[in-house]
Amino acid sequence: MTQALQRINPRRPFQVTSEGLKRIVLGETGGSSAVHVATHRDTAPKPLRLVTPATTYILVIAHSERGAIDVHAHEAIAAAALLAKPTTAVAVLVMGDLSEDLAAFGADQVYVSDSSDSARFDPDHDLAIATEIIARLNPRHIILPDNASGDLGRRLAARLDVSAAAHVVELRPDAVATHRQSGAQMARRDLPLLILLDPNTTDTALPFIGAGELRRLPALPDADTRYADLGTPPVDATQLGLEEADFIVAAGNGVSDVPMLLALAKTFDAAVGASRVAVDDGRFARDKQIGATGRTVTANVYLAVGISGAVQHLQGIRSVRHVIAINKDASAPIAGRADLTIVDDAQAVMGALLEATRARNFTPDDSDIVAAIPPTSVPLVDGEGTDRALGSLRVLTLASVGRNPVNGAARPDCNDLLALELARSLGNTTLLHAGDPNQPALGDYFAYGATTLAVIPTAEAQDIIPALASQAANHDILLTGTRSEGGEGSGLVPYLLAERLGWPIVGRAIAVTIADGQASITQALPKGQRRHVRVPLPAVIVIDPKAPFTPRYAFARRRAGTITQHAPITGVPDTSWRVEPATKRPVKFKAKEQKAGHARMLSAIVTEAKGGAVVNSGTPADKAQAILSYLRTHKLIEW
Ligand SMILES: Cc1cc2nc3c(=O)[nH]c(=O)nc-3n(C[C@H](O)[C@H](O)[C@H](O)COP(=O)(O)OP(=O)(O)OC[C@H]3O[C@@H](n4cnc5c(N)ncnc54)[C@H](O)[C@@H]3O)c2cc1C
Repeated sequence: MTQALQRINPRRPFQVTSEGLKRIVLGETGGSSAVHVATHRDTAPKPLRLVTPATTYILVIAHSERGAIDVHAHEAIAAAALLAKPTTAVAVLVMGDLSEDLAAFGADQVYVSDSSDSARFDPDHDLAIATEIIARLNPRHIILPDNASGDLGRRLAARLDVSAAAHVVELRPDAVATHRQSGAQMARRDLPLLILLDPNTTDTALPFIGAGELRRLPALPDADTRYADLGTPPVDATQLGLEEADFIVAAGNGVSDVPMLLALAKTFDAAVGASRVAVDDGRFARDKQIGATGRTVTANVYLAVGISGAVQHLQGIRSVRHVIAINKDASAPIAGRADLTIVDDAQAVMGALLEATRARNFTPDDSDIVAAIPPTSVPLVDGEGTDRALGSLRVLTLASVGRNPVNGAARPDCNDLLALELARSLGNTTLLHAGDPNQPALGDYFAYGATTLAVIPTAEAQDIIPALASQAANHDILLTGTRSEGGEGSGLVPYLLAERLGWPIVGRAIAVTIADGQASITQALPKGQRRHVRVPLPAVIVIDPKAPFTPRYAFARRRAGTITQHAPITGVPDTSWRVEPATKRPVKFKAKEQKAGHARMLSAIVTEAKGGAVVNSGTPADKAQAILSYLRTHKLIEW
């Protein structure tokens, strides 16, 4: 593989593929366009961090979508750059296509696996690519954002059998910290080899840049896999909750023609949002409000129409990737956040956009669209597809003890209750708990419908995987929640078990049907998408918190079940974690301030504008084209 790597100019300029966008390239004034573009983005040069040849590596792995990685992945790269010693290079493995420069986030070498595709479920492929690069670089640490890449991170932790920490909320040069017991405790340990970072751990503003060398990895030959991706049906985006939406068209006080804005949202398959003023005026429902006292959104694209960009509004769009503003005032604060600001009357530009996209202004055909699935109406098990003759299906469900976040009382773990509910609909299920057999909260599992509960007595910090695996081995399905509310809450246990058992594992499950010795699983993906996957049994299936049902407590059932005990687990406890009460908020990992006195004073009183291109002349039709060009160039629309 090493020889096959194809080296590409690391500092290549980004390609502008569409004629239209040439007019909005920062600083470019040529061409026949009537549109004038200005920018106030700061481009002061920064020094290279790595000035000597690298002797060691820190590897970051992230999945891309439409040629870019998200803010969370940028944070993981910046974290690696802040951890790196002067002779340590930050290598980034991007699963999927990449068309952005990661040098600004501290990446020294960027390996792009174009043959990976975040839209496709092929965990064996990504695992093979990642293990290959790891074998080659032998990194001191491997960092992944604990989002869509968390599945791969956990597979790696299990496959490589290395020290790992997941849901890391605080990172230091010598330690990581995670929350436990629903945030009541903070657990710290020395830096493990594999780190899965939660969002907002790291400040991406760095005083240096990485070398940003880009290398494209050749595609791996097709290999046998137990995972079959059966497809991801299209979703009606206009029906999605704002938190799940990929594209949002949002209205502010500058929008007087609400029907026009709604038509525009439909054209872009976008969800509709609003500023507080637009909501208070009764133009939009309260659940459309975005901002500090409304929804926080993570969309790819945010088209802010007639919104000033007050600080409370900006709080709600912090994680949005592309912001496009239409505002008649070029100095509105939203221009400081937007990647593209169109200065004009909102109604005029919306009208021009609708005109320019007339071919798209259709009424969607219902047969083409799977409506966004409301949480209460998804069938957990599709009765027709399920082989009901499988009364003999042996289902094992893991049960842990959770914690009521309000009063701290022990209770059945919410995520495991979802797994139990699914297990009950599949067939005979046994619950398995590793811990204190006398914990009173265990009895409540019977009240939720369990009939058999087996306990493996174990003390704190014992390795429970071998004992759990030996109990699971004679079952057809192992069902678990995503992460336990008590214990480490890392979400690693199902992956470690699957690896030990040699079974396939599928996460994010919200529905399962069993037929012909196979499990067909519906996964809940970000942005309201649902994917269908099939694996042969036996398999581990991890139930997503979005699984659409409410476990029912019946006091009368509480005494109906029986608890059996297995031999206790003994051994040397894992002492790598130090647990303490969570008294303080996690501290962000950031570069040391190296400003002179004058610069420090300036930064205290001046807010740095981060705005992008500003289109302030030309006709509304020209400006509509500038928006479409931006969207096309960044692959945000495919038409
Ligand atoms: C405690 C607190 C919490 C808050 N929480 C939120 C929150 O969660 N979300 C939120 O949004 N706000 C919130 N606010 C309110 C916030 O401070 C702003 O008042 C609000 O966001 C302004 O909404 P707006 O930008 O739509 O309206 P305005 O401030 O009136 O701005 C309208 C913008 O539209 C432009 N405009 C006007 N006419 C046109 C036109 N014809 N064409 C193009 N542009 C035009 C103007 O130039 C202006 O920039 C909160 C305030 C407080 C005090």
